[in-house]
Amino acid sequence: MNIEDVKKEIRDIVDFPIPGIIFKDLTTAFKSAECMKFFEEEMYNLYKDSGITKVVGIESRGFIMAPILGNKLGVGFVPVRKKGKLPAETIEVSYSKEYGTDTIQMHKDALSSDDVVLLHDDLLATGGTMKAACDLVRKFGVKKIYVNFLVELDALEGRKLFDEDIQVDSLLHY
Ligand code: AMP
Repeated sequence: MNIEDVKKEIRDIVDFPIPGIIFKDLTTAFKSAECMKFFEEEMYNLYKDSGITKVVGIESRGFIMAPILGNKLGVGFVPVRKKGKLPAETIEVSYSKEYGTDTIQMHKDALSSDDVVLLHDDLLATGGTMKAACDLVRKFGVKKIYVNFLVELDALEGRKLFDEDIQVDSLLHY
């Protein structure tokens, strides 16, 4: 499996969820054991020497690879969830979307200032969601933040949102 093989397994859905969007459907890649292995190995090779202590996944498509990578790195998984889903005490960040605002939360005891954190989501589009997640993780005073995506839509320039001290990596670019 190489990058071109994996790209062939990703399905484009035109005009989903709204007209004008070409949705990159990764479920067709996730159902291939070879693609899953490729994602796991490529991500592991990127971060195996980075001293990551927690992998943070963004609800909901970030919950697919984040725990797999955490397991491979020998570290735990922490969820970022939409408001109202986490049962214990939370901290939160609100951010603007195309229509209105959204709020994401983490448990207040999910991370500590000793952590080196890798944040993962499936896809980088405008970057608003991941930027908000980085702002949330920064509130814990963690040592360092890495950001990872399986797919990056380069033309939207989402990576420009991130501060220079944050390393942003994507496995596949469109
Ligand atoms: P953004 O905050 O604009 O970077 O959007 C990122 C989130 O929306 C990710 O969790 C993606 O799963 C989803 N998303 C946005 N645009 C697309 C797209 N064209 N194809 C698939 N997922 C997308």
